[in-house]
Amino acid sequence: MIAVEVVTVTDQLRDGYDVVVVGGGAAGLSGALMLARARRSVVVIDAGAPRNAPAAGVHGLLARDGIGPVELLERGRAEVRGYGAQVVPGEVDAVAREDNGFAVALADGRTVRARRMLAATGLTDELPDIPGLRARWGRDVVHCPYCHGWEVRDRAIGVLANGPLAVHQALLFRQWSADVTLFSHTMAPPAGEEAEQMAARGISVVDGEVAALEIVEDRLVGVRRGDGTVVSREVLAISSRMAARTGFLAALGLRPAEHPGGMGEHIPSDATGRTEVPGVWVAGNVTDLAAQVGTAAAAGAAAAAQINADLVAEDTRQAVAAHRDPLTRVRSASGEQVTGGRRHGR
Ligand SMILES: Cc1cc2nc3c(=O)[nH]c(=O)nc-3n(C[C@H](O)[C@H](O)[C@H](O)COP(=O)(O)OP(=O)(O)OC[C@H]3O[C@@H](n4cnc5c(N)ncnc54)[C@H](O)[C@@H]3O)c2cc1C
Repeated sequence: MIAVEVVTVTDQLRDGYDVVVVGGGAAGLSGALMLARARRSVVVIDAGAPRNAPAAGVHGLLARDGIGPVELLERGRAEVRGYGAQVVPGEVDAVAREDNGFAVALADGRTVRARRMLAATGLTDELPDIPGLRARWGRDVVHCPYCHGWEVRDRAIGVLANGPLAVHQALLFRQWSADVTLFSHTMAPPAGEEAEQMAARGISVVDGEVAALEIVEDRLVGVRRGDGTVVSREVLAISSRMAARTGFLAALGLRPAEHPGGMGEHIPSDATGRTEVPGVWVAGNVTDLAAQVGTAAAAGAAAAAQINADLVAEDTRQAVAAHRDPLTRVRSASGEQVTGGRRHGR
């Protein structure tokens, strides 16, 4: 029997593209959609691990509220491919500048060349090191009231004080439930005005470090303190430290900076996603740690428009230079086809 290797066309990388998009979550796919519709040749390289993968649904997304994270991205990939762009599984390891753009090296040894790059690799949530917590992430251990608040409304909610925003987070979750307990954990218990706010909003405060989560039949039932006592809770809200996924950008001199809000590290950019490195744009959680799915998609689209405008400007400069070149004019007059700028795509 002859073994037949099935290779889908979308996995075969070409020589050069107008744009390489690194990361195929909401931000990257949305950017790729805009660029492909702008008739740019685009490849999306995606490692396939979106941040919200543990969650059952994407909430607060207009017209798609509650859609599964996997289904949302499947639909996005199909739309992007429908305009001729490629979406290729793979992990980008490193990026180097070349004369005409970038050489993007994948972990599997392949290389992609492109004139511009949109980095949309998202972030990693660094979770508190409490036994039992990681396995519950995105289920009954949550971070964002706008993502999960409605789903946990009126439940017994604990808030873990593992960062400076814990009191704020407790006050936020109080909007969704009257049964909120703040665990001071590694922080000092609220004092002064903050203590008064907790009391006024009926938020109880439990002092002392949290030792573990109590899980029964795949559900959170309580929070165990260091002294062994268990406080019954159905949901625990935490803050993660957010670390943008950016290692592959280091050789370009693009390194993550501490986010001004103290939430973690991000790649700084202007409002359109342009970074300090010419030709490199960022969108979504890699630059905006607070971005939700809709915000990330909008940022990807906005960055894509800027990238296309930048390429239009370059194409025009090259066309003008060719137009002024007497040799080009002679070839043009003789009927030989002359293209001003580089031609890409279809
Ligand atoms: C538990 C949880 C629940 C959430 N629920 C909601 C919700 O209900 N509603 C909402 O709006 N938001 C929600 N969010 C926030 C949401 O996850 C983010 O807003 C969204 O994922 C940001 O999109 P992004 O494209 O920037 O990044 P991501 O979705 O994380 O996508 C980045 C992609 O880049 C890939 N990648 C990373 N590094 C590389 C590399 N080197 N090479 C190639 N590919 C790479 C990743 O594998 C991933 O596929 C939730 C977050 C969490 C943690």
